[in-house]
Amino acid sequence: MIKKLNVVGGIIKDKTIGNIPFNLDIVKPKGKRNVRTMKPMKKVIGITNHNTANTSPTAGDEKHAEYLQKQENLDKQYVSVHFFVDEDSITQTVPITEITWHAGDGVDGKGNTQTISIEICENGNLEKAIQNAQILNACLIKTYPELKVYKHQDWSGKYCPRKILDIPNGWEDFVNGIYKLVQETPKTAWEREVEEAVNWALENHISDGTRLDDKPTRKELIVMLKRFYDL
Ligand SMILES: [Zn+2]
Repeated sequence: MIKKLNVVGGIIKDKTIGNIPFNLDIVKPKGKRNVRTMKPMKKVIGITNHNTANTSPTAGDEKHAEYLQKQENLDKQYVSVHFFVDEDSITQTVPITEITWHAGDGVDGKGNTQTISIEICENGNLEKAIQNAQILNACLIKTYPELKVYKHQDWSGKYCPRKILDIPNGWEDFVNGIYKLVQETPKTAWEREVEEAVNWALENHISDGTRLDDKPTRKELIVMLKRFYDL
């Protein structure tokens, strides 16, 4: 169920995310860059989770996407978010390669400039919406394993995501649930083969296991060949 996402230009191309219907409603840039910042996210360290604080029964992911487009057209409020999640679907509103204004930590804040933002809707079955958000977090981590899970409160101190923070141990359980989902996902044959080969290289001192995705220099390649030859 938890799979790597198919992301092109910061936009998810899958029809579902872990069986949850996935919609694209990317806000069209208009006037001021108040929702669509058009600022590239140069480094991504994690995912920031929020609650919408909107309990109106219609305030699901689709309505919030419309709301963001309205804000973009009005050119007043600087507010944006990559994803809205409710009890039965997920909508992406901004490419994840672009900075969004959500964390309340300023134009240079790490929350705003280095994290993917998720708003969890409060309009319906909250438990289900929270579970769906965990699945979205898990799929993002499966795709980008270096990402950490954050809450809005980590950046600005705001009591958000309020519905998760209201539950005793709610935040800890939310994060643990995400990592459980990530770990339960069976590895692909390729991932298993890579893991086995890296362990072999470590045991035989051919590689120290760091910078595994980098290209080797000629020096590094020669040293690795020599170490293999000397085995
Ligand atoms: Zn928030």
